[in-house]
Amino acid sequence: MVDARLEGTQIADSVIDLFGGTPLVRMKRIMEVEDLPCVLAMKMETTNPGGSSKDRPALEMILAAERSGELQPGGTIVEPTSGNTGVGLAIVAAQRGYDCVFVMTDKVAPEKISLLKAYGAEVVVCPVAVAPDDERSYYKVAERLTHERNAFRPNQYANPNNPISHTKTTGPEIWEQTAGRITHFVAGAGTCGSITGVARYLKEQNPDVKIIAADPEGSVFSGGSGRPYLVEGVGEDFFPAAWEPELYDETIAISDADSFMMARHVSQVEGILIGGSGGMAVAAAIQVARRADPDDIVVVFNPDSGRGYLSRVFDDDWMANFGFLTECDESVGAVLEARNPSIENLLYVNPGETVRTAIDRMRASSVSQLPVCKNTPPFAAAEVSGSVDELELMESIADEPAVMDKAVEDVMGDKLPTIGIGQSLDLAIEMLHTAPALLVLSGGRPLSVLTRTDILSFFEAQAER
Ligand code: PMP
Repeated sequence: MVDARLEGTQIADSVIDLFGGTPLVRMKRIMEVEDLPCVLAMKMETTNPGGSSKDRPALEMILAAERSGELQPGGTIVEPTSGNTGVGLAIVAAQRGYDCVFVMTDKVAPEKISLLKAYGAEVVVCPVAVAPDDERSYYKVAERLTHERNAFRPNQYANPNNPISHTKTTGPEIWEQTAGRITHFVAGAGTCGSITGVARYLKEQNPDVKIIAADPEGSVFSGGSGRPYLVEGVGEDFFPAAWEPELYDETIAISDADSFMMARHVSQVEGILIGGSGGMAVAAAIQVARRADPDDIVVVFNPDSGRGYLSRVFDDDWMANFGFLTECDESVGAVLEARNPSIENLLYVNPGETVRTAIDRMRASSVSQLPVCKNTPPFAAAEVSGSVDELELMESIADEPAVMDKAVEDVMGDKLPTIGIGQSLDLAIEMLHTAPALLVLSGGRPLSVLTRTDILSFFEAQAER
């Protein structure tokens, strides 16, 4: 019931009434800098009260659960999420009198936990390092809490009200805001709620509107195997319920490096602070806009703000350590470039291979350490699980000869410390005081191992010049 005293005022009845209605803005500076032939406009979901596009599905999922009776007055909402959906759910829960419990892993940044607690939600943190069927795992805990608290679990990956929210609100807004002249819609896909929901509406208005999904390299939507990448909130290793490829005219894969650099570029050039997934969408939208006609209007969907990524995408040290930024001329990269090209760039061993294999490999290439990496190159940083070291293996085998035939993962040591390809040689030297070798990352991926010998050879070659 709307408070009658608000009549004639511009006072919104509640924060929920401020969901949606987000602005569409021409990316004036990017259009100039990139010399784009057509109009590129951004749908700014950051002006939703929770700061992201996820306010819309959060509301729709809760309203539908109220209608179906799955959510009773005073009930509890349990969802495994650490991100934007949690914020949306927490806002709606506060307004409509529900308790919220969010389940997340201990890998999540502490500020994400604080953010959800700030809205009055309960946060349960589970260890990331346990198997999915372990009672302490994220999945199992969410399942148990849903059961124990007789709670409603929105499950945004399967809930049809997630895309429906965008068909009802985001799609019509974009259609109206472009006076029906939109020609291309570009969005990142995670649950696929936004892209599919908007696409359903736009294609119904005009089947010629092109829908373009932006996807992190490695994710299944663009044909990857689901191996890890660093951009958050988009891409998957499975196909969610809302994935509707027949609606998408094209899927463009964008690397972590391009996504992050674009997020920084847009924030600085345009004055619109966006996150990594927004950067990914803009990078794809620029590709689309470059080949568009002058009268075309390309709309790119920006799901959230760069504020949530200050300690990653916008932290120069973090970016340099993952090999996204170059800090100086005399960098780790210079050493690798000068190194004997016959040394294969990344020697590694798989976790399931035997210690004997690891030893043979080290001997064949005259190296004393190997990173332990899952799968095959190019690896993601998250696929490195440890390392083996000649000295440590020698000691273990001396104690127990059977170690020779054990799997590497049963005996491996800690991961090698990482350094970015663009970080300074001085930093590498300092780190090598305490570590036998460093793992060099480039564009977020392991590229090579750097040892004291590599640096000595580099200095030697320099002195000879
Ligand atoms: N970017 C970010 C930061 C997100 O949290 C999400 C949602 N997972 C998306 C993009 C993708 O949106 P959707 O789930 O609707 O596909």
